[in-house]
Amino acid sequence: MYPLTLRVAGRPVVVVGGGPVAARRAASLLEAGAEVTVVSPWLCEDLAERAASGRLAWVPRDYASGDLDGAWLVHTATGDSAVDALVASDADALRVWCVHAGDAAVSTAWSPAVARVDDVQVAVTAGGDPRRSVALRDAVAGAMQAGDLPLRRHRRSGAGSVALVGGGPGDDALVTVAGRRLLAEADVVVVDRLGPRGLLAELADDVVVVDVGKAPGHHPVPQHEINALLVQHARAGRRVVRLKGGDPYVLGRGGEEVAACRAAGVRVEVVPGVTSAVSVPAAAGIPVTHRGVARGFSVLTGHDDLGEVPGGADHTLVLLMGVSTLARTCRLLVEAGRPAATPVAVVEDGYSPRQRVTVGTLATVADEAERVGVRPPAVVVVGDVVRLSPDWPT
Ligand code: SAH
Repeated sequence: MYPLTLRVAGRPVVVVGGGPVAARRAASLLEAGAEVTVVSPWLCEDLAERAASGRLAWVPRDYASGDLDGAWLVHTATGDSAVDALVASDADALRVWCVHAGDAAVSTAWSPAVARVDDVQVAVTAGGDPRRSVALRDAVAGAMQAGDLPLRRHRRSGAGSVALVGGGPGDDALVTVAGRRLLAEADVVVVDRLGPRGLLAELADDVVVVDVGKAPGHHPVPQHEINALLVQHARAGRRVVRLKGGDPYVLGRGGEEVAACRAAGVRVEVVPGVTSAVSVPAAAGIPVTHRGVARGFSVLTGHDDLGEVPGGADHTLVLLMGVSTLARTCRLLVEAGRPAATPVAVVEDGYSPRQRVTVGTLATVADEAERVGVRPPAVVVVGDVVRLSPDWPT
């Protein structure tokens, strides 16, 4: 068999048969823009709907020789081997390719099982065994969607784009499947200090990696320059992934990057990520809510003034970027009415081999953190849920 991809748009194609197999064939042909005529005395629901809405022509009777006149291609799937054989031999006489659903061995054309992602199609024909083709197709589709296959374009076509990908708290396994696929397709990856930097090792050599990593008190690339960088690469027709730590929209300035792209007319999408606000406490065995202990939680930045502190004793506070201001934060929370004995955990470097948990209370944790030399990145958890951590002294 000789594989080939056909441009059927605007060309007459005949489907003989009105059942589900014919319906699937008709659907793919219509998607490819073919002018489809279905010959069958009856139609299944799907075909009937398409016929009723005028998307295909229906000849409501048994097949008759002559129905293939003018066709470029024919699919026969009547379920009646005598009729299918007649269609196939008529097609042969007219030199029209015929996909014979019932008999791969005599079929002059095979219709492959197709895995599609964006503009990529992988067609599978496995020795005339459709179920084998479908199983393989599904495996290929899964691998493409997961970013396990090299989907990157080498011939650039069309406009570039930006994807803000939430990378999770740093563990390579905690990025989404959608995020991995976008990374596999990226021409340029703009990365932070936090996030799954291990994934960068999988990128092809010619993928441009721009490190805009920020350390506290040390901002190598200012935000407006990051925004400009994203826009500039996308405008050059490149596919840009902005790989961010955690979730792009949780204290990550993702909204500003999206706004900058939109303002520049650059196509931008956002793929959520596992935020450190929830996952890093979890890495220390702390659920941010727990029945009977905490009904809700708030995520705050330790950078700015705390302002009004949300919730009471049954409400967990999660502070990001809160290491340098820990002592002040604890003092303010006590002044705001939280009991000085409220448990606090500081979780450094969640999901890395350096992960460390320091526990104390609003009265003691700042001194303890200073004593052991706590450093960013760390997540601070305030509330009774901290007692659920294995690190809490019993
Ligand atoms: N958008 C990110 C947060 C960015 S702010 C998110 O959703 O997770 C950066 C802060 O996140 C750090 O200062 C620290 O408080 C926290 N952080 C991120 N990853 C962390 C990790 N692996 N361990 C501890 N803290 C982390």
